[in-house]
Amino acid sequence: MDAIKSIFGESDYNIPRRCEKCGGVMIFKGVGEYHCEDCKHVMYDDYGKVRNFIEAHPGARSSDVSAMTGVSQFSIRQMLRENKLEISSSSPSFLKCEQCGTNIRSGRFCKQCEIAYHRAIEEKERATRSGHDYMGVAKTQPLEDGEKRFIRSK
Ligand SMILES: [Zn+2]
Ligand SMILES: [Zn+2]
Repeated sequence: MDAIKSIFGESDYNIPRRCEKCGGVMIFKGVGEYHCEDCKHVMYDDYGKVRNFIEAHPGARSSDVSAMTGVSQFSIRQMLRENKLEISSSSPSFLKCEQCGTNIRSGRFCKQCEIAYHRAIEEKERATRSGHDYMGVAKTQPLEDGEKRFIRSK
């Protein structure tokens, strides 16, 4: 059970395991949809419920989606952050950039902040790379050592 849960991270999105009509096993059909293997009854997990609702109501706010699907706003944000959901461009944004607070549609950062974030990492790598210790010890030595050993073994 733990192994099954872990592939979905913190939440399993309330996956329907048994049919609410006949008790049969629910078979996963994709994008949050499940069919009963006995009576073919269709059920959805939280992701399927939210996705269907947003498709049918493109302009819905997250509070409406939560009220109508019974899925918590926290879970809805979680799906957006994990890029499991994408809000159409006609919808109001549900999310704010964690860095600057501007409205975004999925993920954690706006485009500008994401680029700035990557530039900062690249800058740090560049600084590390130009350091003397790295060039002298880590870069050249293992290669020379490996070549010597190769010759000796012949
Ligand atoms: Zn059934
Ligand atoms: Zn930002």
